[in-house]
Amino acid sequence: MLKIENLHAEVDGNKILNGLSLEVGAGEVHAIMGPNGAGKSTLAYVLGGRPGYEITEGSVTFAGQDLLGLEPHERAAAGMFLGFQYPVEIPGVSNVQFLREALNSQRRARGEEPLSGGDFLKLAKEKAGLLRMDMEMLKRNVNVGFSGGEKKRAEMVQMGILDPKFAVLDETDSGLDIDALRIVGEGINAIMRQPDKGVLLITHYQRLLDYVKPDKVHVLAKGRIVKSGGADLALELEREGYETVAA
Ligand code: ADP
Ligand code: MG
Ligand code: MG
Repeated sequence: MLKIENLHAEVDGNKILNGLSLEVGAGEVHAIMGPNGAGKSTLAYVLGGRPGYEITEGSVTFAGQDLLGLEPHERAAAGMFLGFQYPVEIPGVSNVQFLREALNSQRRARGEEPLSGGDFLKLAKEKAGLLRMDMEMLKRNVNVGFSGGEKKRAEMVQMGILDPKFAVLDETDSGLDIDALRIVGEGINAIMRQPDKGVLLITHYQRLLDYVKPDKVHVLAKGRIVKSGGADLALELEREGYETVAA
């Protein structure tokens, strides 16, 4: 479903990704772990098509398409979803407005009819329920005054509404308390654990993986995958640290 081959990328002339290769099949969840500064967020940005990241070598194929040749909005319309480590606040725009426009612009890009206000609200209510979010919260401005946990839950509601084929989630677990972690983990499972979808879960810690069981775990260090294994690898990393395990 997602095939990354020998990816090299730089920012402002600094090489950050150095020959990263990775393949995620349909129905699979892969976790990427690694020390600070390894290039995890850079990988997420490169997959999302964020400006300023120059690809100097390699390729990324997503559902048979050349992902790197697509504009960010085309990637989203093709079913690629990115969850960010630091969600942005948008004063003056409610979550409901934002989410409906995000969904309908993707639907239009795919040649589908936009959803009516009523149908959209029904969908939003269903997905908010999965994340135990009140519709009142979704009427508030995007992320303004939200706690860290509420931002992450709102982002997962967004993922539920957009119903992507593939999600790249960058430290979705950062700043979550125990209950929010479980709710977010169960939300990811409910939305993305399906035979025709895939997930790349970027995380520092193994605790989210207690809820979202990965099929494979990869260690990213110095811009490439240095070790891969099953779910046990995350436990081993937690016990022994990156330096020992990925040396
Ligand atoms: P991680 O998410 O694994 O902690 P990042 O992908 O955020 O790592 O960063 C990888 C490396 O790239 C770090 O050393 C970071 O300082 C560097 N880096 C990230 N963005 C830039 C930038 N805009 N200019 C220069 N260096 C950057
Ligand atoms: Mg980091
Ligand atoms: Mg990061």
